[in-house]
Amino acid sequence: MSVLTLQPRLTSLIQKVFSNDKLAHAYIFSGEPGVGKEEIAFWMAKQFFCKHQNESGPCDDCNECKRINSLNHPDLHVVEPEGQSIKIDQIRSLQKEFFYKGVESDKKCYIIKHVDKMTVQAANSLLKFLEEPNGQTLAILITENKHRIIKTILSRAQMYQFDPLKEENVLSAFVNEGIEREISFLLSRTTKSILNGKQLLEEDWFFKVRDLFFHTLQQFLENPYGAIITIQTEWPNLFTDKDKQQLSLKLLSLWFNEIVNISLKRDIGLNDKNALLEAYQHHFTVFEAADMMELLIEASGMLRSNANYLMVLEHICHSWLEYIKR
Ligand SMILES: [Zn+2]
Repeated sequence: MSVLTLQPRLTSLIQKVFSNDKLAHAYIFSGEPGVGKEEIAFWMAKQFFCKHQNESGPCDDCNECKRINSLNHPDLHVVEPEGQSIKIDQIRSLQKEFFYKGVESDKKCYIIKHVDKMTVQAANSLLKFLEEPNGQTLAILITENKHRIIKTILSRAQMYQFDPLKEENVLSAFVNEGIEREISFLLSRTTKSILNGKQLLEEDWFFKVRDLFFHTLQQFLENPYGAIITIQTEWPNLFTDKDKQQLSLKLLSLWFNEIVNISLKRDIGLNDKNALLEAYQHHFTVFEAADMMELLIEASGMLRSNANYLMVLEHICHSWLEYIKR
C-alpha cells in the first residue's frame, strides 16, 4: 500500500518540509485510529535517513530505508505504552540513547506511539528533551487523543492533523493488499479506517457477512417470508454487538444506494451484483429506494438509543416486504 494515497495533503506537506530544508525537531501526528499515522511516521523517518530521497519521498531501496522497513535501524527508536502507560524509565532510556551521537551519523529519530498515555513524570521528562534538541533529531509523537497531551508539549511540536480516509483511499488500500474487489468495496463503504477493516476481516467474519447479506437479498425476491426468518434467526448470530449491528444497517443502506445509482445510470460499485440490482429495480423506484435509505438512518438512530436489534430489523423488514409484495 502506498502511503502517498492515504493522506495526500500531509505527505505533500512533509515532502515540502524536506525539500525546503525546514524540518522541525518535533511533530505531533493526530487523528482517528487507522488513518495512516504510523505508516506515515515511518515513511517520514525513512525520508529523514534516506541517502537517495527524491521528489516522491524516500527511495525505499538504500540501506537506510531497508533497515527501517525491517525495523532494524540503530538510530530510529520506537516507544509505545508498556501496559496502560508510557513510563518515565522508557523516556530516560531514550534520552540515554540520544546522549550518544547517532551510531552512523549525528541523525537520530524517535517515534512515540500513544504519546497521550505518558505518565506525568514521563511527560515532564520528554518536555526537557524537546526543549534541548541535541544535534539533528526528529521526534514524531503519535496520538488519537491530542486533548490529553499537556500544553507545554503541544507548544513545542508542529501539529499535523490527519484527515479521515476517503472511501476511494480505503478501497484502493484493500485492493492493493490483495483483498478481492467486492469485499474491498463493501469495507470501504462501511468503515473509514483501514485498521478497523482489517479487524473485520479477521477469522473471515466479513466474508461470512458478505455471503449471508447477498443470500438474504436474493431470498427476499424469491421467498420474502423465508428471508424475514433468515434475518430474524441468522443475522443476530453474525451481528453480535452494537457496532456490528450498525454495520448491518450500513450494508443495507449501501444496497439501496446502489439501486438509486443503477436507476439513475450512475456508476455502481457492486458490478458483480448487476443482475440482482436490476431485479430490485423492478420493485423500487429511485424515490422508494431513497425512502428505504431514510428508514435505515432512522433505524440506526433507534439502535443507538438502545432499541432491540430484532425489533429494529422487524421495522425495516415491514417496509421492505410491502415493496417486494407488489
Ligand atoms: Zn532510501
